[in-house]
Amino acid sequence: MQQPDPHQASESTTACRICALRSDHPGITIDDQQICNLCSLSQVEELLDNYRYTSEVFAEFQAAAPAAGDYDCLFMYSGGKDSTYMLDLFVNEYGKQVLAYTFDVPFESVHAAQNIALAREKIDATFVVDADDDNIKLMMREVFNRPAPKPGRYLDEKLPCVSCRTFFVLKAILWAYREKIPYIALCADPQQILTMESNVREVVRGFYKTFGEQLTGTLFGEQLEDLLFDEDENLPKIVFPFIAMRHDYDPDRIVEVLRAKGLYESSPLETHCTLFPLLNYYSYKNWGCMFYKLNASSHVRSVKRNADYDRNTFSIKFPRSLDLGEVDARLGEVVMAIAKGEGQRADHEAELVALFQRMDASEDAARFVARSFLDMRSVASELGIRLDT
Ligand SMILES: [Zn+2]
Repeated sequence: MQQPDPHQASESTTACRICALRSDHPGITIDDQQICNLCSLSQVEELLDNYRYTSEVFAEFQAAAPAAGDYDCLFMYSGGKDSTYMLDLFVNEYGKQVLAYTFDVPFESVHAAQNIALAREKIDATFVVDADDDNIKLMMREVFNRPAPKPGRYLDEKLPCVSCRTFFVLKAILWAYREKIPYIALCADPQQILTMESNVREVVRGFYKTFGEQLTGTLFGEQLEDLLFDEDENLPKIVFPFIAMRHDYDPDRIVEVLRAKGLYESSPLETHCTLFPLLNYYSYKNWGCMFYKLNASSHVRSVKRNADYDRNTFSIKFPRSLDLGEVDARLGEVVMAIAKGEGQRADHEAELVALFQRMDASEDAARFVARSFLDMRSVASELGIRLDT
Protein backbone atom coordinates (compact mmCIF):
# COMPACT_ATOMS: atom_id res chain seq x y z
CA MET A 1 0.00 0.00 0.00
CA GLN A 2 3.05 2.30 0.26
CA GLN A 3 3.07 4.14 -3.04
CA PRO A 4 4.22 7.68 -3.74
CA ASP A 5 1.47 9.83 -2.34
CA PRO A 6 0.01 12.52 -4.61
CA HIS A 7 -1.52 14.33 -1.62
CA GLN A 8 1.64 14.67 0.42
CA ALA A 9 2.92 18.21 0.68
CA SER A 10 5.23 18.83 -2.28
CA GLU A 11 7.98 21.45 -2.46
CA SER A 12 5.48 24.17 -3.28
CA THR A 13 3.20 23.36 -0.32
CA THR A 14 4.10 23.38 3.36
CA ALA A 15 2.11 22.09 6.29
CA CYS A 16 1.47 24.01 9.52
CA ARG A 17 3.71 22.53 12.21
CA ILE A 18 0.95 22.87 14.81
CA CYS A 19 -2.24 21.69 13.12
CA ALA A 20 -1.06 20.04 9.84
CA LEU A 21 -3.21 22.25 7.60
CA ARG A 22 -1.44 22.81 4.29
CA SER A 23 -0.74 26.02 2.45
CA ASP A 24 -2.87 24.84 -0.49
CA HIS A 25 -5.93 24.42 1.75
CA PRO A 26 -8.58 26.99 0.73
CA GLY A 27 -8.35 30.13 2.86
CA ILE A 28 -5.13 29.03 4.61
CA THR A 29 -1.77 30.80 4.49
CA ILE A 30 1.38 29.69 6.27
CA ASP A 31 3.97 32.14 7.58
CA ASP A 32 7.78 31.81 7.66
CA GLN A 33 7.56 30.25 11.14
CA GLN A 34 5.58 27.44 9.47
CA ILE A 35 2.42 28.38 11.35
CA CYS A 36 -0.96 28.77 9.62
CA ASN A 37 -3.24 31.78 9.87
CA LEU A 38 -5.76 29.85 12.00
CA CYS A 39 -3.09 28.83 14.53
CA SER A 40 -1.61 32.32 14.67
CA LEU A 41 -5.17 33.70 14.89
CA SER A 42 -4.57 36.45 12.41
CA GLN A 43 -8.30 36.35 11.82
CA VAL A 44 -9.08 36.97 15.47
CA GLU A 45 -10.59 40.45 14.99
CA GLU A 46 -12.93 39.29 12.28
CA LEU A 47 -14.02 36.30 14.34
CA LEU A 48 -14.73 38.42 17.40
CA ASP A 49 -16.81 40.82 15.33
CA ASN A 50 -18.99 38.02 14.09
CA TYR A 51 -19.45 36.64 17.61
CA ARG A 52 -20.35 40.08 18.93
CA TYR A 53 -23.01 40.63 16.25
CA THR A 54 -24.57 37.17 16.55
CA SER A 55 -24.55 37.47 20.36
CA GLU A 56 -26.40 40.78 20.16
CA VAL A 57 -29.07 39.46 17.82
CA PHE A 58 -29.58 36.47 20.11
CA ALA A 59 -29.91 38.67 23.20
CA GLU A 60 -32.44 40.84 21.34
CA PHE A 61 -34.44 37.71 20.43
CA GLN A 62 -34.45 36.43 24.02
CA ALA A 63 -35.70 39.77 25.33
CA ALA A 64 -38.28 40.29 22.56
CA ALA A 65 -41.97 40.53 23.46
CA PRO A 66 -44.22 37.81 21.98
CA ALA A 67 -44.62 38.24 18.22
CA ALA A 68 -47.85 39.67 16.75
CA GLY A 69 -48.44 36.52 14.68
CA ASP A 70 -48.76 32.90 15.80
CA TYR A 71 -45.04 32.22 16.22
CA ASP A 72 -42.09 33.96 17.84
CA CYS A 73 -39.70 31.95 15.74
CA LEU A 74 -39.25 29.30 13.13
CA PHE A 75 -36.89 26.76 14.67
CA MET A 76 -34.85 24.67 12.23
CA TYR A 77 -35.25 21.23 13.70
CA SER A 78 -33.11 18.34 12.40
CA GLY A 79 -33.93 15.83 15.14
CA GLY A 80 -30.27 15.58 16.14
CA LYS A 81 -29.32 15.93 19.81
CA ASP A 82 -28.25 19.59 19.57
CA SER A 83 -31.44 20.84 17.98
CA THR A 84 -33.66 18.63 20.17
CA TYR A 85 -31.96 19.99 23.28
CA MET A 86 -32.38 23.57 22.09
CA LEU A 87 -36.00 23.12 20.96
CA ASP A 88 -36.93 21.90 24.45
CA LEU A 89 -35.15 24.92 25.96
CA PHE A 90 -36.90 27.39 23.62
CA VAL A 91 -40.37 26.06 24.43
CA ASN A 92 -40.03 25.08 28.08
CA GLU A 93 -37.52 27.61 29.46
CA TYR A 94 -37.66 30.64 27.19
CA GLY A 95 -41.45 30.25 26.77
CA LYS A 96 -41.38 30.92 23.04
CA GLN A 97 -44.14 30.04 20.57
CA VAL A 98 -42.23 27.85 18.16
CA LEU A 99 -42.82 26.52 14.68
CA ALA A 100 -40.47 23.52 14.51
CA TYR A 101 -39.43 23.30 10.88
CA THR A 102 -37.79 20.15 9.53
CA PHE A 103 -36.42 20.09 6.02
CA ASP A 104 -36.41 16.54 4.77
CA VAL A 105 -32.95 16.31 3.18
CA PRO A 106 -33.09 13.38 0.74
CA PHE A 107 -29.43 12.49 1.46
CA GLU A 108 -29.86 12.01 5.18
CA SER A 109 -30.49 8.61 6.66
CA VAL A 110 -33.57 8.20 8.82
CA HIS A 111 -31.91 7.87 12.24
CA ALA A 112 -33.28 11.25 13.32
CA ALA A 113 -36.91 10.32 12.62
CA GLN A 114 -37.26 8.52 15.94
CA ASN A 115 -36.19 11.61 17.89
CA ILE A 116 -38.54 13.83 15.93
CA ALA A 117 -41.42 11.50 16.84
CA LEU A 118 -40.48 11.72 20.54
CA ALA A 119 -40.26 15.52 20.36
CA ARG A 120 -43.68 15.76 18.70
CA GLU A 121 -45.14 13.83 21.62
CA LYS A 122 -43.41 15.74 24.38
CA ILE A 123 -42.67 19.30 23.26
CA ASP A 124 -45.48 21.82 22.85
CA ALA A 125 -44.63 23.27 19.44
CA THR A 126 -46.14 23.12 15.95
CA PHE A 127 -44.19 20.69 13.77
CA VAL A 128 -43.95 21.02 9.99
CA VAL A 129 -41.91 19.10 7.41
CA ASP A 130 -40.77 20.65 4.14
CA ALA A 131 -39.10 18.92 1.19
CA ASP A 132 -37.95 19.67 -2.36
CA ASP A 133 -36.08 16.59 -3.60
CA ASP A 134 -35.86 17.46 -7.29
CA ASN A 135 -34.38 20.91 -6.83
CA ILE A 136 -31.89 20.05 -4.09
CA LYS A 137 -30.64 17.12 -6.21
CA LEU A 138 -30.34 19.37 -9.25
CA MET A 139 -28.27 21.84 -7.24
CA MET A 140 -25.99 19.10 -5.84
CA ARG A 141 -25.40 17.67 -9.32
CA GLU A 142 -24.33 21.15 -10.44
CA VAL A 143 -21.94 21.68 -7.49
CA PHE A 144 -20.22 18.32 -7.94
CA ASN A 145 -19.96 18.38 -11.73
CA ARG A 146 -18.60 21.85 -12.31
CA PRO A 147 -14.99 22.84 -11.62
CA ALA A 148 -14.24 24.02 -8.07
CA PRO A 149 -13.71 27.79 -7.75
CA LYS A 150 -9.97 28.63 -7.65
CA PRO A 151 -8.23 30.09 -5.74
CA GLY A 152 -10.45 28.85 -2.99
CA ARG A 153 -11.89 30.63 0.00
CA TYR A 154 -12.23 29.36 3.55
CA LEU A 155 -14.54 26.27 3.61
CA ASP A 156 -14.55 25.77 -0.18
CA GLU A 157 -13.49 22.14 0.31
CA LYS A 158 -16.96 21.70 1.88
CA LEU A 159 -18.86 23.51 -0.86
CA PRO A 160 -21.37 20.71 -1.62
CA CYS A 161 -22.23 20.40 2.09
CA VAL A 162 -22.41 24.18 2.59
CA SER A 163 -24.62 24.52 -0.52
CA CYS A 164 -27.03 21.85 0.71
CA ARG A 165 -27.36 23.62 4.05
CA THR A 166 -27.79 27.01 2.38
CA PHE A 167 -30.51 25.54 0.16
CA PHE A 168 -32.67 24.46 3.07
CA VAL A 169 -31.90 27.58 5.10
CA LEU A 170 -33.31 29.50 2.12
CA LYS A 171 -36.40 27.27 2.15
CA ALA A 172 -36.81 28.08 5.86
CA ILE A 173 -36.29 31.81 5.23
CA LEU A 174 -39.02 31.75 2.56
CA TRP A 175 -41.37 29.91 4.92
CA ALA A 176 -40.79 32.41 7.75
CA TYR A 177 -41.11 35.32 5.30
CA ARG A 178 -44.46 34.08 3.97
CA GLU A 179 -45.79 33.41 7.48
CA LYS A 180 -44.38 36.69 8.85
CA ILE A 181 -42.36 34.93 11.57
CA PRO A 182 -39.77 37.45 12.84
CA TYR A 183 -36.90 35.07 13.82
CA ILE A 184 -35.30 31.90 12.51
CA ALA A 185 -33.31 29.81 15.00
CA LEU A 186 -30.45 27.77 13.55
CA CYS A 187 -28.45 25.32 15.68
CA ALA A 188 -25.13 25.76 13.88
CA ASP A 189 -21.99 24.97 15.88
CA PRO A 190 -19.50 27.74 16.75
CA GLN A 191 -17.20 26.86 13.86
CA GLN A 192 -20.09 27.15 11.41
CA ILE A 193 -21.43 30.32 13.04
CA LEU A 194 -18.13 32.08 12.37
CA THR A 195 -18.51 31.59 8.67
CA MET A 196 -22.26 31.88 8.32
CA GLU A 197 -24.07 34.92 7.18
CA SER A 198 -26.75 35.88 9.67
CA ASN A 199 -28.29 38.59 7.52
CA VAL A 200 -31.06 37.05 5.43
CA ARG A 201 -30.51 39.33 2.46
CA GLU A 202 -26.81 38.41 2.40
CA VAL A 203 -27.66 34.69 2.45
CA VAL A 204 -29.78 35.25 -0.66
CA ARG A 205 -27.09 37.35 -2.37
CA GLY A 206 -24.44 34.75 -1.60
CA PHE A 207 -26.56 32.04 -3.21
CA TYR A 208 -27.05 34.12 -6.37
CA LYS A 209 -23.30 34.72 -6.45
CA THR A 210 -22.48 31.00 -6.19
CA PHE A 211 -25.14 29.66 -8.56
CA GLY A 212 -26.01 32.54 -10.87
CA GLU A 213 -29.41 34.00 -11.70
CA GLN A 214 -30.50 31.27 -14.07
CA LEU A 215 -30.07 28.26 -11.79
CA THR A 216 -31.30 30.22 -8.74
CA GLY A 217 -34.42 31.12 -10.74
CA THR A 218 -34.93 27.46 -11.69
CA LEU A 219 -34.55 26.35 -8.06
CA PHE A 220 -36.60 29.04 -6.30
CA GLY A 221 -38.70 30.85 -8.93
CA GLU A 222 -39.44 34.52 -8.21
CA GLN A 223 -39.68 34.11 -4.45
CA LEU A 224 -36.11 35.01 -3.59
CA GLU A 225 -36.23 38.18 -5.63
CA ASP A 226 -39.29 39.44 -3.72
CA LEU A 227 -37.35 38.96 -0.54
CA LEU A 228 -34.25 40.68 -1.90
CA PHE A 229 -36.15 43.89 -2.61
CA ASP A 230 -38.43 44.04 0.44
CA GLU A 231 -37.96 46.38 3.44
CA ASP A 232 -35.63 45.23 6.23
CA GLU A 233 -38.43 45.14 8.81
CA ASN A 234 -40.32 42.57 6.73
CA LEU A 235 -37.40 40.14 6.68
CA PRO A 236 -36.84 37.46 9.35
CA LYS A 237 -33.60 37.58 11.36
CA ILE A 238 -31.42 34.52 11.91
CA VAL A 239 -30.35 33.70 15.48
CA PHE A 240 -27.76 31.11 16.52
CA PRO A 241 -28.78 29.82 19.95
CA PHE A 242 -25.51 27.94 20.52
CA ILE A 243 -23.66 31.25 20.60
CA ALA A 244 -24.62 31.48 24.27
CA MET A 245 -23.17 28.02 24.98
CA ARG A 246 -19.93 28.26 23.08
CA HIS A 247 -17.71 28.00 26.15
CA ASP A 248 -19.36 25.06 27.80
CA TYR A 249 -20.76 22.94 25.03
CA ASP A 250 -20.73 19.35 26.25
CA PRO A 251 -22.35 16.73 24.01
CA ASP A 252 -22.35 14.04 26.71
CA ARG A 253 -24.28 16.25 29.10
CA ILE A 254 -26.77 17.16 26.35
CA VAL A 255 -27.44 13.48 25.71
CA GLU A 256 -27.83 12.89 29.47
CA VAL A 257 -30.38 15.71 29.81
CA LEU A 258 -32.34 14.48 26.79
CA ARG A 259 -32.36 10.87 28.01
CA ALA A 260 -33.69 11.96 31.40
CA LYS A 261 -36.55 13.74 29.64
CA GLY A 262 -37.28 10.78 27.34
CA LEU A 263 -36.37 12.86 24.31
CA TYR A 264 -33.53 10.82 22.91
CA GLU A 265 -32.90 7.36 21.53
CA SER A 266 -29.18 7.03 21.14
CA SER A 267 -27.61 6.27 17.83
CA PRO A 268 -23.94 6.97 17.17
CA LEU A 269 -24.86 7.69 13.55
CA GLU A 270 -27.71 10.06 14.22
CA THR A 271 -27.37 12.44 11.31
CA HIS A 272 -25.39 10.35 8.91
CA CYS A 273 -25.36 11.84 5.42
CA THR A 274 -25.39 9.34 2.56
CA LEU A 275 -23.27 11.77 0.53
CA PHE A 276 -20.40 11.68 3.07
CA PRO A 277 -18.20 9.49 0.81
CA LEU A 278 -18.84 11.81 -2.14
CA LEU A 279 -18.14 14.86 0.01
CA ASN A 280 -14.72 13.34 0.70
CA TYR A 281 -14.25 12.57 -3.00
CA TYR A 282 -14.96 16.25 -3.73
CA SER A 283 -12.53 17.61 -1.14
CA TYR A 284 -9.74 15.19 -2.16
CA LYS A 285 -10.24 15.73 -5.86
CA ASN A 286 -10.30 19.53 -5.70
CA TRP A 287 -8.30 20.35 -2.58
CA GLY A 288 -6.31 17.22 -1.70
CA CYS A 289 -7.78 16.86 1.79
CA MET A 290 -10.48 14.94 3.61
CA PHE A 291 -13.86 16.57 4.24
CA TYR A 292 -13.26 16.91 8.02
CA LYS A 293 -9.71 18.30 7.68
CA LEU A 294 -10.56 21.66 9.28
CA ASN A 295 -12.43 19.99 12.16
CA ALA A 296 -9.59 17.54 12.76
CA SER A 297 -6.92 20.23 12.57
CA SER A 298 -8.87 22.38 15.01
CA HIS A 299 -8.84 19.40 17.40
CA VAL A 300 -5.09 18.87 16.93
CA ARG A 301 -4.56 22.60 17.62
CA SER A 302 -6.56 22.47 20.87
CA VAL A 303 -4.72 19.43 22.15
CA LYS A 304 -1.34 21.04 21.45
CA ARG A 305 -2.32 24.31 23.09
CA ASN A 306 -3.59 22.68 26.23
CA ALA A 307 -2.05 19.48 27.52
CA ASP A 308 -5.11 18.85 29.73
CA TYR A 309 -7.49 19.34 26.89
CA ASP A 310 -10.11 16.63 26.96
CA ARG A 311 -13.21 18.26 25.54
CA ASN A 312 -14.87 17.22 22.34
CA THR A 313 -14.96 19.43 19.35
CA PHE A 314 -18.50 20.42 18.55
CA SER A 315 -20.44 17.46 17.13
CA ILE A 316 -17.49 15.34 16.01
CA LYS A 317 -15.15 13.37 18.22
CA PHE A 318 -11.47 12.82 17.54
CA PRO A 319 -8.95 10.85 19.59
CA ARG A 320 -6.48 12.77 21.76
CA SER A 321 -3.57 11.85 19.58
CA LEU A 322 -4.11 11.76 15.86
CA ASP A 323 -1.50 11.67 13.13
CA LEU A 324 -3.63 13.85 10.92
CA GLY A 325 -1.22 14.17 8.00
CA GLU A 326 -0.90 10.41 7.59
CA VAL A 327 -4.57 9.54 8.13
CA ASP A 328 -5.57 12.26 5.67
CA ALA A 329 -3.18 11.00 2.99
CA ARG A 330 -4.14 7.33 3.37
CA LEU A 331 -7.87 8.05 3.33
CA GLY A 332 -7.32 10.04 0.13
CA GLU A 333 -5.67 7.09 -1.61
CA VAL A 334 -8.59 4.78 -0.79
CA VAL A 335 -11.26 7.35 -1.71
CA MET A 336 -9.72 8.06 -5.11
CA ALA A 337 -9.15 4.35 -5.82
CA ILE A 338 -12.82 3.59 -5.09
CA ALA A 339 -13.89 6.54 -7.26
CA LYS A 340 -11.84 5.15 -10.16
CA GLY A 341 -13.15 1.63 -9.61
CA GLU A 342 -9.65 0.33 -8.82
CA GLY A 343 -8.57 -2.23 -6.24
CA GLN A 344 -10.42 -4.86 -4.23
CA ARG A 345 -13.55 -4.15 -2.21
CA ALA A 346 -12.35 -6.19 0.77
CA ASP A 347 -8.99 -4.38 0.87
CA HIS A 348 -10.68 -0.99 0.74
CA GLU A 349 -13.07 -1.98 3.50
CA ALA A 350 -10.29 -3.18 5.82
CA GLU A 351 -8.23 -0.03 5.25
CA LEU A 352 -11.24 2.27 5.80
CA VAL A 353 -12.31 0.50 8.99
CA ALA A 354 -8.77 0.88 10.37
CA LEU A 355 -8.64 4.57 9.43
CA PHE A 356 -12.03 5.43 10.93
CA GLN A 357 -11.11 3.61 14.11
CA ARG A 358 -7.97 5.76 14.31
CA MET A 359 -10.37 8.71 14.14
CA ASP A 360 -12.12 7.36 17.24
CA ALA A 361 -15.07 5.54 15.66
CA SER A 362 -16.24 2.33 17.34
CA GLU A 363 -15.76 -0.78 15.22
CA ASP A 364 -19.45 -0.93 14.29
CA ALA A 365 -19.60 2.71 13.31
CA ALA A 366 -16.33 2.42 11.37
CA ARG A 367 -17.66 -0.55 9.40
CA PHE A 368 -20.97 1.17 8.69
CA VAL A 369 -19.23 4.26 7.32
CA ALA A 370 -16.64 2.16 5.44
CA ARG A 371 -19.40 0.25 3.62
CA SER A 372 -21.04 3.50 2.59
CA PHE A 373 -17.71 4.51 0.95
CA LEU A 374 -17.69 1.27 -1.04
CA ASP A 375 -21.05 2.26 -2.56
CA MET A 376 -19.78 5.66 -3.68
CA ARG A 377 -19.98 4.95 -7.40
CA SER A 378 -23.59 3.80 -7.38
CA VAL A 379 -24.71 6.77 -5.24
CA ALA A 380 -22.91 9.09 -7.67
CA SER A 381 -24.50 7.57 -10.75
CA GLU A 382 -27.99 7.70 -9.21
CA LEU A 383 -27.55 11.44 -8.70
CA GLY A 384 -25.89 12.08 -12.06
CA ILE A 385 -22.55 13.00 -10.45
CA ARG A 386 -19.54 12.28 -12.66
CA LEU A 387 -16.50 10.77 -10.98
CA ASP A 388 -14.00 12.06 -13.52
CA THR A 389 -10.78 11.51 -11.67
ZN1 LIG B 1 -2.12 25.57 11.95
